[in-house]
Amino acid sequence: MKMNESMKLPRALVVDDDVMMRLLIRRALEREGFEIEEADDGLKALETFARTGADIVLLDVLMPNLDGYGTCERLRQRPNGAQVPVLMLTGLDDLDSINRAYEVGATDFISKPINWGVLGHRLRYMLRSAEAMENLVKSRESLANAQRIAQLGSWEWNVSNGEVFWSEESYRVLGYAVGEVAPSMDAFLQRVHPDQREAASESLERLLRECTEADISQRVMSPAGGERYVHVHGVATPGADGKAIHVSATIQDITERKRAELQIRYLAYYDSLTTLPNRQFFMERLAQALQQAKRHSRLLGVLSIDVDQFKRINDTLGHSVGDQLLIAIAERVNECVRDHDTVSRIGVEPFETLARLGGDEFSILLAEIARFQDAAKVARRILEVFSSPFKLGIQEVFVTCRIGLSVFPADGEDAEALLKNADTAMHFAKEQGRNNYQFYGKEMNATALQRLSLEAQLRRGIEREEMVLYYQPKVDTQTCKIVGAEALIRWQHPELGLVPPVQFIPLAEETGLVVPMGEWVLRTACAQAQAWQDAGYGVLHIAVNIAGLHFRQSSLMRSISEALQNSGLDAARLEIEVTESMIMHDIDATLATLQHLKDMGLQLAIDDFGTGYSSLSYLKRFPIDVLKIDRSFIRDLPGDSEDAAITRAIIAMAHSLKLKVVAEGVEKEDQLVFLRQLRCDMTQGYLISPPVPAQDFLAILDRAKPAAKLQPLRLKA
Ligand code: C2E
Ligand code: MG
Ligand code: MG
Repeated sequence: MKMNESMKLPRALVVDDDVMMRLLIRRALEREGFEIEEADDGLKALETFARTGADIVLLDVLMPNLDGYGTCERLRQRPNGAQVPVLMLTGLDDLDSINRAYEVGATDFISKPINWGVLGHRLRYMLRSAEAMENLVKSRESLANAQRIAQLGSWEWNVSNGEVFWSEESYRVLGYAVGEVAPSMDAFLQRVHPDQREAASESLERLLRECTEADISQRVMSPAGGERYVHVHGVATPGADGKAIHVSATIQDITERKRAELQIRYLAYYDSLTTLPNRQFFMERLAQALQQAKRHSRLLGVLSIDVDQFKRINDTLGHSVGDQLLIAIAERVNECVRDHDTVSRIGVEPFETLARLGGDEFSILLAEIARFQDAAKVARRILEVFSSPFKLGIQEVFVTCRIGLSVFPADGEDAEALLKNADTAMHFAKEQGRNNYQFYGKEMNATALQRLSLEAQLRRGIEREEMVLYYQPKVDTQTCKIVGAEALIRWQHPELGLVPPVQFIPLAEETGLVVPMGEWVLRTACAQAQAWQDAGYGVLHIAVNIAGLHFRQSSLMRSISEALQNSGLDAARLEIEVTESMIMHDIDATLATLQHLKDMGLQLAIDDFGTGYSSLSYLKRFPIDVLKIDRSFIRDLPGDSEDAAITRAIIAMAHSLKLKVVAEGVEKEDQLVFLRQLRCDMTQGYLISPPVPAQDFLAILDRAKPAAKLQPLRLKA
């Protein structure tokens, strides 16, 4: 039983103008365990109720000032009076007054004369039922609260008479104001996204037909213009004939969950930098497209794209510029593959998927192609979009790319094989230069094998000392006196004969073999130069080329000083040749290395000047002694006026920086004459002599300067 504030006696407010009546009621109720408040008219009753409250009110009908009906009516309007049980004490047993009592909100009535024995029971019953009512209201409220929190509404659908009930939250989930529309299946479908309306309607019909449970996820449109996701779970109850007569359903707003799912999916399947699909996505899509292609005996193409010089841009211009470049590339390529006119299409499924597989590696799936040429068309279009520069902030950079293509079924049966073979083709495209595409061919794997065996041979060749050094003289341009030599490596292969460096240095660099090889060159060249000096051929410079990889090794200084120590060569006689692109790699580290070499007393030369960056502002910062003009500028001298102007400018600029200049690849007399006019310091080229073995170099020395031998100039005693 409801107690007034925990375990207190239930309080009854007794309102009657008849003192006697009040007394009798008090006596009857106190015996039954009630606490009594009294009032002798309606107005006083309202006042008392406001002051002390009551668990139940007994109201006489006929009273002065404000009668029982009026009192009840006003009581019901009070916030805490709406629910309190009110028992009317009617003296009149007629129907009108009973009806009137209910109209004004009385809970029940009892007519006088009162049966005192049952009054208490009557009141207790009323209190119990009021309590049950209150609990019901509370649990409804908490259910509504829970539904609102969960954004979960409930529906009842009486199929036989078509009546539909929606809980308040159901309206809100569907974007209606509560009570805005009459609940109905049509009102529900009205909110479903037009694309899904038919499917939703079918699901509902199936639920009725099959009389089971149904889960329906829908996009719904809110009137505000937003899109939300809702999930409906319905359970049908069958009637005697097995047909659905009733459907209970919940409807829940799952937009947040859906967004989280989409976000998770996005993270798992997309590259956050370029927003392109990632490798995972690509491989799954490729596998799926392959199934289709197999089923319909269609061709499918895979393109592997690699961006040239990306690493260089990333290293020199910084990662954020590198990122910008990747985004810009992704956009351009995406636009160009989306152009459907490029390729003759067969089906309607998503045709192309561009993905970023990692780093500067992109891949494209062409899910269905009619001919090999269709894939080539796409490749050509991609090469084309690389032909204009990329604007990154304030700077513009040109980048090129290489593309490898593989086609199902010719080049592979499964996703891995196709991608691998497209990659192999891409590497072959690389060997053929920039801006190139290449179809996969079976022989490519054979070549890859050849390459492996070449690597093994090179390793053995270095161990078995099959490498030899050739020497090419460098002369003073004015006097043609030999001032030094450049050491150039060759490989004396037991079967292939003499292999030129361009054919094995790249591989040696890739495999790291260039380091032990470079150490050998340093030892041999230093020893040779010292031997000539010891033999009385005067003071000669010896120039040694250092590969990029070797240059970046911390062991470089040690191998140089060992070579000098072992040979006894003066450090000032050794010249180290590095290329521009090598020193532009990681400028701070390069600067430190060059400075270190300079501190050791070596001469430093920039090789192949003019082919790379030719950046004067950087050159100024490096402790360089010599600039070697690339032979591509010398070749067409003196006839080519542009090359002449460039050569003239390089020499003038070098001299202003106090650098000595060497012209490479001088083959003709008039070139030499021209270089003399430009005051180029030194000359190297076939005109004087091609690179020759050490023996032959000695002969040249003998021929060129017989006098030198007579007057040996020994630096050391
Ligand atoms: P490089 O350092 O620029 O060497 C000059 C190249 O031009 C040599 O080619 C030389 O034979 C060639 N050459 C010289 N005069 C003329 C000429 O008048 N006309 C023409 N057409 N060519 C001329 P080589 O010996 O084949 O070497 C090629 C490149 O291989 C070298 O270019 C250098 O970068 C690299 N290399 C050579 N030896 C070594 C080495 O011991 N270590 C490293 N890391 N690289 C080396
Ligand atoms: Mg060189
Ligand atoms: Mg050179």
